[in-house]
Amino acid sequence: MVDTPAAPAHDGRQHTLGAPLVVLDGVNKHFGQLHVLQDVDLTVHRGEVVVVIGPSGSGKSTLCRTINRLETIDSGTIAIDGVPLPAEGKQLARLRADVGMVFQSFNLFAHKTVLENVTLGQIKAKGVPRAEARDVAMSLLERVGVANQADKLPAQLSGGQQQRVAIARALAMKPKVMLFDEPTSALDPEMINEVLDVMVSLAREGMTMVVVTHEMGFARKAAHRVVFMDAGRIVEEETPENFFTAPKSDRARDFLSKIL
Ligand code: ADP
Ligand code: MG
Repeated sequence: MVDTPAAPAHDGRQHTLGAPLVVLDGVNKHFGQLHVLQDVDLTVHRGEVVVVIGPSGSGKSTLCRTINRLETIDSGTIAIDGVPLPAEGKQLARLRADVGMVFQSFNLFAHKTVLENVTLGQIKAKGVPRAEARDVAMSLLERVGVANQADKLPAQLSGGQQQRVAIARALAMKPKVMLFDEPTSALDPEMINEVLDVMVSLAREGMTMVVVTHEMGFARKAAHRVVFMDAGRIVEEETPENFFTAPKSDRARDFLSKIL
């Protein structure tokens, strides 16, 4: 865990938030007997950064995975930019492209170069011409600070570099919202900040983000809202300042006492 000082008043959160972009309404999900998401309502506005925290097993990853429909839901609705997530087909593929996802474990294509990792999706899923895809990829790799690694294979990079490539790969699809599921949990401590810095700069540029993380420094710097989950429910929603200094629920207090 890396803690950083609280952000100054004129930080990246000052831009005004837009219309609802991701809307979950009464979402329920079971894995067999386990009620893993229980009546979840969540609205993420354009330009908003929502940090999701909560104990292991509380449903944070499942929540992320339902938003780009890697998991189905049993009841309720999920809409992206006003369009309900359909069950399948071309429309689903299109909506999914609006949602970028970065996982704990990087998930890069091991046998493709860094550059190929960032161009392939653009060429295959979006029909972007190869030369243009390459230009987009190189400028994104530049932006996340790994352009000089473009011709290497992922395994030749550090974990922090690989995760920055994964962020560039997701951004290459020009998503409307980015989901991050514990993006720094698998990293050695000295690499955590290089990934968080990229995420903070994305937030400051106005990217809509849902971030599962226990990095309080990131939440304090970049989050508009902290959502605390426990046992499949959203128990508390607060500004980071209020949440970390005065959590309302016993469960949040108990959780914070263990991680802070
Ligand atoms: P978190 O990310 O907060 O740790 P998860 O969303 O990964 O929580 O998991 C929530 C609960 O659902 C856990 O009890 C987990 O074991 C269970 N779970 C997650 N994925 C599956 C699955 N594919 N099949 C069955 N149970 C699952
Ligand atoms: Mg998880």
